[in-house]
This record gives sequence, structure tokens and C-alpha cells, in this order.
Amino acid sequence: MAGTTAVVAFDFDRTIIDGDSDNWVITEMGLTRLFNKLRPTLPWNSLMDRMMKELHSQGKTAEDISECLKRTPLDPCIVAAIRAAHAHGCDLRVISDANRFYIETILEHHGVLGCFSVIYTNPSFVDEEEGRLRILPFHDSSSSPHGCKLCPPHMCKGLVIDQIQASVSKSGKKRFIYLGDGNGDYCPTLKLGESDYVMPRKNYPLSNRICGNPMLIKAQVHEWSTGEELERILKHLIDTIII
Ligand SMILES: [Mg+2]
Ligand SMILES: [Zn+2]
Repeated sequence: MAGTTAVVAFDFDRTIIDGDSDNWVITEMGLTRLFNKLRPTLPWNSLMDRMMKELHSQGKTAEDISECLKRTPLDPCIVAAIRAAHAHGCDLRVISDANRFYIETILEHHGVLGCFSVIYTNPSFVDEEEGRLRILPFHDSSSSPHGCKLCPPHMCKGLVIDQIQASVSKSGKKRFIYLGDGNGDYCPTLKLGESDYVMPRKNYPLSNRICGNPMLIKAQVHEWSTGEELERILKHLIDTIII
């Protein structure tokens, strides 16, 4: 994107939304017992796909799941932060281990889906014949392992950052702001350079890991706890980059 101020990459669960969208659907739609029973037997993606099969067999539609997702808490300050970053010409992206249906439903509901240029996540689709929501892995780990030891087999967010860096650098050097909370956000954080920023959610796994060995991180670190802090810090960083 020519003229982009900065690339702002957001994790989704516990970063854009306060909680975890997979857990939200499991709890709200009464799947906790089956989830706990199957958890030791299936990889995460297959388990979520299996949960969708269960909902379908109970007569619940993709529309019902969509209504459930729309009730997940999202801090209005974070919605405002997303709008402001977009208004300032930033290239906003989501990199998430949730899935496309969940993320698009929630962002659309809050009127900010159009602020994002690309969403990198596990693909999902509604099976035409069955009307059932299917969830697939982002990387097919059996046919093409990503080879990163830091990341779960179905998604390496660091590889996604490599891809974004390669594609946006064609129109000049771009600075990155990366926001996240989890262990899966550590690999992409290591890819950031000295002129980039990382915004880890305070006292969550990513911030703890950064604090455990700060020398490994080249990017400037700015922690946040509340949506209000996220909004204030993100606006400040974007202003700094613009100047
Ligand atoms: Mg997260
Ligand atoms: Zn990785």
C-alpha cells in the first residue's frame, strides 16, 4: 500500500477482544463437557471443527454461532483505536489463530472490518450441503510443515510477518506496530527491527516472555493493560511515526 504510515498487526483473541473467541463459543453454546472430554485427543483446529459438527447435529446454524459471537465483549476504546489508526493511514492487519468466520463476524458487528486490509487466520466456510461451519488449519502441517520450533504446527505468525515485510517493503521501508498477548505472538515479535514497536498485553504470556529476556527483542516495547491504555499508546506511537 503506497503512502502507508505504518503496518499495525493485531492478534485477535485477548488483544482485540478481551477474551478468547473459541472458548466463548464453547462456553456460551454449552459445549464445555464435550470439549473437556475430547481436548486430549485432538489438535486444536480439529477440535474446533468437531465442536462445529456437534452444534450442527444439535440443529444450531451458522447464524446461531454468529449471534453468539456478536455478544463477545469488545472494549469501545479498542474500536476507537482501530478507527483512529485506519484514519491516520495505517495498514491494519489481523494475524490470529482463531478463524475467519469468528473474526469477520465480530469485526463486522462493531463496524471495523473494513479498517483491515488482510486477515491471516485459519480458513472457515459453511458447507453448502450440510449447512455446517467448517474450520481448517492455516498451514497444512502434514503436507507443508512450517519448521518453526516456537510455534504450534498449524500457524507460525513469524512467517506471516516475513511475508508482510517482503510485500510492503516494495513501496519503501515500513515501520511495524505489533499488538498481542500470547506465546504465539513471541515468534513475530522476534522478527521486528529497531524502528518497530511491540505492544504486549501486560502480565500475559507475551509480556512475561519479553521481560524474561529483553535483550532478544530489537523493537521498542510498550505494555498495555486496558483498552483505554491500548488506545492511548497506539495513538501516541502512530503520532511519533508520522512526525
Ligand atoms: Mg491472543
Ligand atoms: Zn514461528
